[in-house]
Parts: sequence; structure tokens; C-alpha cells
Amino acid sequence: MSPDSLERLSSTIRDVPDFPQPGILFKDITPVLADAHLLQEAIEGMAEIFAGQKVDKVVGIDARGFIFGAMIAQRLGAGFVPVRKKGKLPWKTRGVDYSLEYGTNSVEMHLDALAPGERVVLADDLLATGGTAGAALELIRQSGAELLGSVFFIELAFLCGRERLEGMGPIHSLLKF
Ligand code: AMP
Repeated sequence: MSPDSLERLSSTIRDVPDFPQPGILFKDITPVLADAHLLQEAIEGMAEIFAGQKVDKVVGIDARGFIFGAMIAQRLGAGFVPVRKKGKLPWKTRGVDYSLEYGTNSVEMHLDALAPGERVVLADDLLATGGTAGAALELIRQSGAELLGSVFFIELAFLCGRERLEGMGPIHSLLKF
């Protein structure tokens, strides 16, 4: 992807201070989603990382990871699998708890969503501390699928999420802040 395209994507993301709580600078991606050309560039940029590889499934994380994940899956000719917050999936699930700054959270995946040996990519909008992605990667590991790597639209590098995901496959991000 050209430096020019990356710059346009980067400058279109809206920084919202103190959302959803004081001290958080929220990266609002909705202006990128609303722009047909930029949306296409973002998805192409994230999908091309895996171009030429056989990908069976893209796993996307609740909720903005569904948007990116489903479009990347479509582009790669793969299926899509949702990882959802606890209690949202209707069928039998496996779950993983992970720690937040205060308290814990849980994510789940359908038990039959991934078959052992399937070639899988994880996608989400943003890598912050890596807690959420780490839990999703653990669900993929438990399924016996083969992880090709993870791709994020944005990486907040100063939060060192990449370090938390060490040993959990290759980590790719389109934009770093
Ligand atoms: P983490 O588990 O800390 O890596 O947080 C990642 C998840 O929280 C992603 O699914 C993001 O959608 C969301 N998130 C965390 N921090 C931000 C932020 N500064 N701006 C937008 N979304 C965020």
C-alpha cells in the first residue's frame, strides 16, 4: 500500500478524547467505513498480507472485527467466524476469560466453527493491550485450527499488545500510532 494511501487512511480516523471513559483516546474508524474508496483500500491492504495463501476462515472479534473480518474473508475467498462476548452466541461454545485493567472479560466461539487443520486468520479493528486478541487466539488454538496470523487495521504500539501476543503467530497492522 502506498504511503499516500496510508496517510489518507490515518488522517481520516477521528480521535475522540475521553471515550468511553476519561483518559482513553478513542480511535473512531466510522469515517473510514463511510468512505467507499478508503474502505476498499483498508480491506485490500489488510487482505493482501495473506494473498497467495490458502485461507479457509477469517475469525473476527465482536464488534468492529466483524466488519473488517467479513470483508477480508470475502476478498480472500474464505468463510467468516465470529468471536463474541459471552452469552451472545446461540449454539454450543468454548470460552476464554482474560484480564482487563479492572476485572475480567470473556469471549466465546461456536464449538463447530473451526475444524482441526483449517487455515485461519484473525482480524480486528484495533490492537491495544492485546487482551482481547490473545483470548481469541487461544480459542483458535483450542480448536486445533492452523493459525496463519493476525491482522489489525490499527495498532496502538505504545500499549505493547504485540508483546502480550508473543508466541501466538505473526502480527500485522496497517496503521501504527
Ligand atoms: P485490547 O484488548 O486492550 O487490545 O483492546 C482491543 C479492543 O478494544 C479492540 O477490539 C478495540 O475495538 C477496542 N479498543 C481498545 N482501545 C481502543 C481505542 N483507543 N480506540 C478504539 N477502540 C479501542
